[in-house]
Amino acid sequence: MPLDQAKARYRDPEHFIGFCRDCERWNRCWACPSLTVDPEAYLRPYRWATFVAAKINFDDAERAVANSPESLRAIAWNALKMEKTRLFDALLRCEALVPNSAQLSSGGCHLCEVCARIDEKPCRHPEKLRYSLDAFGFDLTKISEDLLGIRLLWSNGQELPEYYTLVHALLSENEALREVRSTVSALFSPGS
Ligand code: SF4
Repeated sequence: MPLDQAKARYRDPEHFIGFCRDCERWNRCWACPSLTVDPEAYLRPYRWATFVAAKINFDDAERAVANSPESLRAIAWNALKMEKTRLFDALLRCEALVPNSAQLSSGGCHLCEVCARIDEKPCRHPEKLRYSLDAFGFDLTKISEDLLGIRLLWSNGQELPEYYTLVHALLSENEALREVRSTVSALFSPGS
């Protein structure tokens, strides 16, 4: 959708950055707030946003094994990291296909075990650093429900939900739905 429309409907930085302040990644991950870029200046060159979600389903066997906080965290983390890597890489490919485009990612940065920001060091992979959609104040719940038809579920800390959802976006100067759809479909098709 046009980025101006997405910002008008789904962006409220004051409200959502407030939640980031309570997150353990606040000031501890270069992809998260407090941001070292000005979001308005960062978004200015782009006119379109193509939103993409990856839905990670857990079957009964996985949910049964996740019967302690430790196993729940391990299963959730492994699944999220694997699928986030696939989605992130797919949108990096889109960036290469679509001139003047950039990805906004989900949930901080997955590239290092421990972010260099914790030690007040520069990012180790600045060429692959992509900011989180929520760090820019976008409402992931509404985007996911309105545009992608997926209700976000969360763990209650006791058990895995039926599924998790990752929401990313490709910002671009020109409309890029065809490129995003074909690249993401190819990487997420059965057997890939
Ligand atoms: S690439 Fe590493 S150092 Fe850079 S933001 Fe990601 S986790 Fe932090």
